[in-house]
Amino acid sequence: MKITRVETIYLRQPEVKFQCDSGQDALIVKVHTDAGITGIGEVDSNPLGARGIIDGPFSHTTAAGLASLVVGEDPFETEKLWHKMYRGNIYGGRRGVAIHAMSGIDMALWDIKGKALGLPVWKLLGGGFHQKIRCYASSLFGHTPEETGNLARRYADQGFTAVKFGWDPMGQDAKTDVALVREARKGLGEGPDLLIDAGLVWDSKTALQRAIAFSEHDIFWLEEPLRPDDYEGYRKLSEATSVRIAAGEEESNRASFLDLMDKGRVDVVQVDLTRCGGFTEAMKIASLAWDRGLPVANHGFTTYINVTAALHWLNSIPNALICEFVAEEETNLRESITKQKLRAKDGYLDIPQEPGLGIELDEEAIARFRV
Ligand SMILES: [Mg+2]
Repeated sequence: MKITRVETIYLRQPEVKFQCDSGQDALIVKVHTDAGITGIGEVDSNPLGARGIIDGPFSHTTAAGLASLVVGEDPFETEKLWHKMYRGNIYGGRRGVAIHAMSGIDMALWDIKGKALGLPVWKLLGGGFHQKIRCYASSLFGHTPEETGNLARRYADQGFTAVKFGWDPMGQDAKTDVALVREARKGLGEGPDLLIDAGLVWDSKTALQRAIAFSEHDIFWLEEPLRPDDYEGYRKLSEATSVRIAAGEEESNRASFLDLMDKGRVDVVQVDLTRCGGFTEAMKIASLAWDRGLPVANHGFTTYINVTAALHWLNSIPNALICEFVAEEETNLRESITKQKLRAKDGYLDIPQEPGLGIELDEEAIARFRV
């Protein structure tokens, strides 16, 4: 089998609000083959930047469009092709958007392999740890503490055993920060786990003060309190509090995750399959975390393609902690573009059993959102 074409598809909702919700647009990658099998992948990044990395021309041997490197190759050779893409674009591609772009192609290659063999991706990865995985309802904070409490109550009523709130308005002042967490806990009641995603707002001392204050409301983890390059701040914070510190969505490839683990000393490693370098790299990151005694979780705030990929991966590693599942009001785009609509049952998501990723695109919806 040979790869014949790589297609990038940019989707966008008619209205994109100024908020930290990356599900308002999407970059989908299709990898076509001469066997008639098409693999699907996704990139969560600056979408047109990632598209340029994929569709761009061969410039020279360390700056090549990723499609130009994989067309004509055998899609089964995922390890070889990962390194070919990495080496072929190393000039500008060691971190960030180029690794994000590679993730979409790598994901599509694994989808092709699964479809060709009639097996789910997790089986190809040697997985089979779970039948279902506990997930947390992932949401932005309400505009006020009270609104956050109401959201928490709604998610608890839906049967989730863990709920996360993130980003604005956290970080404005100590009083509001603590009120947001207090009301979230009040809304949830005592049972469910409460996860807090600060959204890159503090220095390490402020984060430590908040971690101590939030402890009174029993939080499961504190995510991304610091800017991602402040590994020293992460280390000081992690060593000073018993609250789990989680991070990783800003990292791409295992070298940057190694910095997060060994310099930043975080407690939970969050890996986004559409950013980290795809399945090929995510397996290695999970293994590095396992060697350090660290649990991992996925990150994914975009489409059901991303969550489905995460379920395959979490089912293939020994240190899966929990799965992120966006519980925001369904956006048009997320709810429309795939035939499968993921739903949590009693706070769990089932492991996909269909060949490949087990995701089909709704081509009519894709045409509707396509830019
Ligand atoms: Mg986050």
